[in-house]
Amino acid sequence: MNDRVHRYQYDAGVTDCLFCRIVAGEIPATLVTETDTTLAFRDIDPKAPTHVLVIPKEHHAAIGDVDPVLAGQILATAHQVAKAEGIDESGYRLVFNTGRDGGQTVFHVHCHVLGGRGLTWPPG
Ligand code: C5P
Repeated sequence: MNDRVHRYQYDAGVTDCLFCRIVAGEIPATLVTETDTTLAFRDIDPKAPTHVLVIPKEHHAAIGDVDPVLAGQILATAHQVAKAEGIDESGYRLVFNTGRDGGQTVFHVHCHVLGGRGLTWPPG
């Protein structure tokens, strides 16, 4: 589905994109913070003591579809979340799972903010 069609569906309130539906308030989520262009909410299946997802409010499937200004806004919100969660000093990880091999399961771009424990490397 191209973005224009998706945008139409979102405006019409009939989108099947899970994260667009969270932005629209149609599916509940535990919000952490929001800006004009981004939304941060707790991952429903946390992989670390802090596990927050930062998404653009506008639908884009993956990070490669996002313009540099919006990409910067996603990263700025992610850092703001890390500070608010008290993990900016101890350290944290930002992850964009992208495409099949990257393990992406929801095709609305999202940045995982993970922290609150020592994270291992390399990832599985
Ligand atoms: O990177 P990936 O696409 O696999 O991540 C999707 C994330 O969305 C998962 O960590 C999953 O737990 C989360 N999720 C959520 N709320 C939902 C559905 C999925 O936080 N309603």
